[in-house]
Amino acid sequence: MDIKRLLRRNIRTLKAYAAKEIPCRVKLDANESPYGFPAFVSAVEKIQTNRYPDPEGKALKKAASKRWRVGIKNLLLGNGSDELIYYLITTFGGPVLYPTPTFSMYGIIARALGEKTVEVPLDREFDLDLDKMIEAIRNYRPKLIFLSSPNNPTGNCFSTDRMLKILDTSKGIVVIDEAYQAFASKRGMLPLLRDFERIAIMRTLSKIGFASLRVGFLIASEDIIEAVDRVRLPFNVNALSQSIAEEVFRNYADIDRSVQIICRERDRVFKELSSLPLLKVFPSEANFILFRIKNASSVHRKLLQKGVLVRDMTSLVRDALRVTIGTPEENDIFLEALKSIVV
Ligand SMILES: *Cc1c(COP(=O)(O)O)cnc(C)c1O
Repeated sequence: MDIKRLLRRNIRTLKAYAAKEIPCRVKLDANESPYGFPAFVSAVEKIQTNRYPDPEGKALKKAASKRWRVGIKNLLLGNGSDELIYYLITTFGGPVLYPTPTFSMYGIIARALGEKTVEVPLDREFDLDLDKMIEAIRNYRPKLIFLSSPNNPTGNCFSTDRMLKILDTSKGIVVIDEAYQAFASKRGMLPLLRDFERIAIMRTLSKIGFASLRVGFLIASEDIIEAVDRVRLPFNVNALSQSIAEEVFRNYADIDRSVQIICRERDRVFKELSSLPLLKVFPSEANFILFRIKNASSVHRKLLQKGVLVRDMTSLVRDALRVTIGTPEENDIFLEALKSIVV
């Protein structure tokens, strides 16, 4: 095909992000919340369909700034945090450093933009390998470091000490991706905004019931926000999403309740999985659990035959599957299906 020859070199070997829709009865593969909030959609009745959305999302930023106690000028909205990753790498360029295994978009977007990636394996506990990270920072001088904490797909938070050491060592921007912060027992890194100029924090509504909106937040110093804003497309968050997202901040108690249910269920599923023979289950501070099981890909297929879709993580972590926490009923169906396969 002729088109192939027209591609930029770095795009030739790139593969599209595999977000296949696989039909199933119980969907536990994408770290979505099992709880939706259809009533919040009434917020869109106020919008003017003929007008462009607020280019800066002022009302939504105001609501977020109150909740997180940060200045409006410390906030930038994205069409999901994925878009913010894109903007960060567009703004600052590479090398882009991140530990592995982690969220795949850091590498995919860096490569799409033709930037060098530096991958440093996590240690045996899936925590940051500080010596290797610092060595990589010295050798490659990354412009951007992405730390997902809690980390997807391993579920743990990185130790604060080690993140602080990395902040101290790096001359580039350290992005803490707190997509799963709502489910974590430790406080996030927002309080560090005051002390570190080169820290940027990402939050998203996607894992707490609003994946369909595509709303993410970058929280950082005014200098970083001003820089990233230069590459932002003018109307990147649409009016419907802005207005429903505002409603989220007005009704946060509802979200908190659903998060609490999910955390309780996570701890129950963790115990149940841990009691099964031949499974290695990793503790989680997120809304999913990673576990090791023999013949993981075959177990994945057998679960799907029973209508349960989890994520096959074997390409990133040997013998590993990742299950998203669903409703209590969905979790029971998953646990029963898994038991019938392994015992
Ligand atoms: C799901 C996920 C995201 C993507 O968030 P969106 O706001 O939906 O784009 C970002 N980071 C991590 C670590 C994730 O797991």
